[in-house]
Amino acid sequence: MRLFHEYQPGRKWIARLSHDTDLLQALEEFAATKNIKVGRIEVIGAVKKATLAYYDQAKKEYGTLEFNEPLEILNCSGNLSLRENLHRAHLHITFGRCDGTTLGGHLMLGTVVFAAEAVIEELNGPELQRGFDSPTGLPLWEL
Ligand code: ZN
Repeated sequence: MRLFHEYQPGRKWIARLSHDTDLLQALEEFAATKNIKVGRIEVIGAVKKATLAYYDQAKKEYGTLEFNEPLEILNCSGNLSLRENLHRAHLHITFGRCDGTTLGGHLMLGTVVFAAEAVIEELNGPELQRGFDSPTGLPLWEL
């Protein structure tokens, strides 16, 4: 671990997400509304359909996966930071299917909430911006 900042606990919220909202968009709008510049998120619940991405390390690009089926959110966790001064959430999600199998990936816009409960925690400390990282091709934290 070469690059790090230290943060202190900030505000905390429990939120119920509205039926038929976009999961990622709702969380980013909440972060912007409350001006949460750095934080962490956990979500459980269910979605009507999902859009995920998988990062191809060789091609340095995301491939998109779409699942048009009801899925349980078994776990969704990630963080909040800024990218070009906009509040952005980076979330990974594991879904359960009706047969008990799982699938997962990097959460994208296009994942529609059936019902969801979120815990959102702010971290107080240095501002955290994402910027282009050449070795990975990803928008990583600039620490
Ligand atoms: Zn990711």
